[in-house]
Amino acid sequence: MPSPYDLTRDGLAELLEDEPDYRVRQVWDGLHARVQRPEEMTELPASLRESLGEAIPPALREVSRQSADGGETTKWLWALDDGAQVETVLMYYPDRVTVCVSTQAGCAMACQFCATGQAGFQRHLRQGEIVEQVVAAMREAKPRRVANVVFMGMGEPLANYDRVWGAVERLHGGMGLSARHLTLSTVGLVPGIRRLAAQPLPVNLAVSLHAANDTLRDELVPINRRYPLEQLAAACAEYVEASGRRLSIEWALIDQVNDHDSDARELAAFARPLGAHVNLIPLNPTPGYPVVGSSARRVRQFRDQLTAHGINATIRMTRGAEIDAACGQLAASVRVSSRATKAHSERGRLVPGGPAG
Ligand code: SAH
Repeated sequence: MPSPYDLTRDGLAELLEDEPDYRVRQVWDGLHARVQRPEEMTELPASLRESLGEAIPPALREVSRQSADGGETTKWLWALDDGAQVETVLMYYPDRVTVCVSTQAGCAMACQFCATGQAGFQRHLRQGEIVEQVVAAMREAKPRRVANVVFMGMGEPLANYDRVWGAVERLHGGMGLSARHLTLSTVGLVPGIRRLAAQPLPVNLAVSLHAANDTLRDELVPINRRYPLEQLAAACAEYVEASGRRLSIEWALIDQVNDHDSDARELAAFARPLGAHVNLIPLNPTPGYPVVGSSARRVRQFRDQLTAHGINATIRMTRGAEIDAACGQLAASVRVSSRATKAHSERGRLVPGGPAG
């Protein structure tokens, strides 16, 4: 069954073919501008509200909702129609409200340190399932406006390119969000970055680098074996050139793994020609990776080293750690199966593409 946010305007018109023409605009605006459910559209006759509500029910069913950071962070766990589960995180800041959405149930990229990667891939989310996460956040945050969407939840956005791009277009064209406030985060899928570069809508791009030499990156981020750093840098340069946007590089600092002075030097050499901004996050602990984040002191030193190398770097505050809503922790606990965890500890580390499927 399609989500209301899978429907095109033509599809909606078909659904409303027995109604006067103006109903299409009413319902479309209700769904997008006012983020209403059909049942709440009081300008519609009661019978139509009811039949529409049945024809296009929401795709997300709330399984649980947790809050942290004194109410500043909310995490939802949703069940989809086939029972797959995904998470969404809403974050309030003094000057903005941001929602972090999932793009896949699970993930096939198998990054060692990421809870979602440890659990393996289930399926792609549909466009409507992605948009509805933003709609839920918008409804919750009222009267504050959710203006920022980061595609940094569960899944690899560029591995689900068409549906993710459909969601981007709907958020931009339907909900009126500025492309400048939409950020796609990728592990570094080079063909996807190239496709993005060819899009007219310049969204922000964040690349999860974590290592700037191929030996270490092959290990931490296995897809690097397919798209090594040189190819990644070329695709990023293409994106920056085409979009005019500043690139962000994400770097989760892992104690004694990628926080050496030499890592800062290599990262600076990668970031400099791209004019990229670096976001540093101390690694959040996950069940399947026996290494810890760098100390707060080392994180600051690393930032200062980057600054000394001429790189713009900021330390990202961790949100929602105590409810497992922090970066890389998103994985419905029911699905962090004992199978994945056991396989991980037996083999010491996950092989590339290993846990997929
Ligand atoms: N697949 C996409 C988006 C989802 S991950 C990507 O890789 O960018 C969102 C961010 O969280 C990425 O930068 C990812 O590398 C980071 N991350 C994953 N696990 C983490 C952890 N345990 N601690 C801190 N950041 C983590």
